[in-house]
Amino acid sequence: MPEPSHYWIVNVRIPDCLIDSSFREQNLDLPLIPTLQRDRLFPCHLEIRDGQIAKVIANSPDSIANSIALESLPIIDAKQGMLIPCFSDLHTHLDKGHIWERSPNLDGTFQGALKGIYRDCTEQGNWSYDDLYRRMEFGLKCSYAHGTRAIRTHLDCPPHQFETTFQVFRELREKWKEKITLQAVSLVPLSFFVTPEGEKFADAIADLGGIIGGIAHMVPEFDQFLARIMTLAIERNLCLDFHTDENNDPESRTLYRVAAAALKHDFKSQIVCGHCCSLAVQDEETANETIALVKAANVGIVSLPMCNLYLQDRVAERTPRWRGVTLVRELDAAGVNVAISSDNCRDPFYGFGDHDMLQVFTMGTKISHLDTPYGNWIESVTTRPASLMGLPTGNISVGQAADFSLFKARSYNELLSRPQSDRLVFRNGMKIDTTLPDYAELDDLINF
Ligand SMILES: [Zn+2]
Repeated sequence: MPEPSHYWIVNVRIPDCLIDSSFREQNLDLPLIPTLQRDRLFPCHLEIRDGQIAKVIANSPDSIANSIALESLPIIDAKQGMLIPCFSDLHTHLDKGHIWERSPNLDGTFQGALKGIYRDCTEQGNWSYDDLYRRMEFGLKCSYAHGTRAIRTHLDCPPHQFETTFQVFRELREKWKEKITLQAVSLVPLSFFVTPEGEKFADAIADLGGIIGGIAHMVPEFDQFLARIMTLAIERNLCLDFHTDENNDPESRTLYRVAAAALKHDFKSQIVCGHCCSLAVQDEETANETIALVKAANVGIVSLPMCNLYLQDRVAERTPRWRGVTLVRELDAAGVNVAISSDNCRDPFYGFGDHDMLQVFTMGTKISHLDTPYGNWIESVTTRPASLMGLPTGNISVGQAADFSLFKARSYNELLSRPQSDRLVFRNGMKIDTTLPDYAELDDLINF
């Protein structure tokens, strides 16, 4: 029997920061139930019609009788489970994904990760059209099944590789456009952009509809590189996305320099900076100076807690002493738009993962102590990354596509204590198949 296109989901709890603000204003008071107060969860019912949210009503004693029962529509009873808009994953590396068994990083260090990718992509030349297409699509299948609707991926762009990679990206973006909005960022040394080939490469990124990006290092020419990149981006009306300060060196201040350059060059399009780890090992005055400049330049920050925990402070036969994450709480308190994303997945930079943004949120919360209170941090994997990608935020509001995940968990404590593998994912109001792809799909590629 086909699923109904017009129905109610009753008895859901939605983080109040993810509900349209005009609705919140009309229903200001959260009920005096401790869990709801503490987690700021709003109890309500949703009417779904033709793939959209048609009505949101507060869960009050007479609301079912007045608004629902009379319409005699099908009802899904969520039994106080949490409902969260579909995730947006702002920082990934789909092209590197799932090569762990073929090219592991056995010492687990950052240098080991760089070598592992170089060996797999360049020395062994494994990144053929077929290899990339199938591994990247495997990542998309996982993401979709876990409830993600938008992904930005960085793409390694050595000269021998990028045309193949761009071709695969184009085809997957088109094939998956109804399910996942895909964005691409170049991942190259920033010095490349001051060469004549770099200018042509900027044209190729523009032709792809991509974003200019690369890895920022504290080199003497860094400001010159930034000036060139901002000029290339302004000429082509492109956004920017950098890997900054992915280390524990207090002298590493590329984030500060990016923000300063954005102000100097009056760069108006969105800039996102990922990692920013060294901010956490700088003295407070230095860190605050950077945070203030990041806010002034409207630079968005994306923290990659799982990858940072894995790679930072890893020395053979020594226990790590720090968690590797940036100052997410201080950045957030200063009004910076802070997102949390997954980064690498089963590759030399991060040996685990499954493109599950709930796992990212769970790990991020525990690594960065974003609990007690949870505040608005759920925005960091939903509405904030969406807005940094220039997409509709996906807030729960009337007229929006009915794209959300429904969990059995009734509180953040329950949500973050189990993997929630039994979550229901709705896209355009229809329950999707949340079966994950079988690892064996890739066996012939990775010689498992
Ligand atoms: Zn990255």
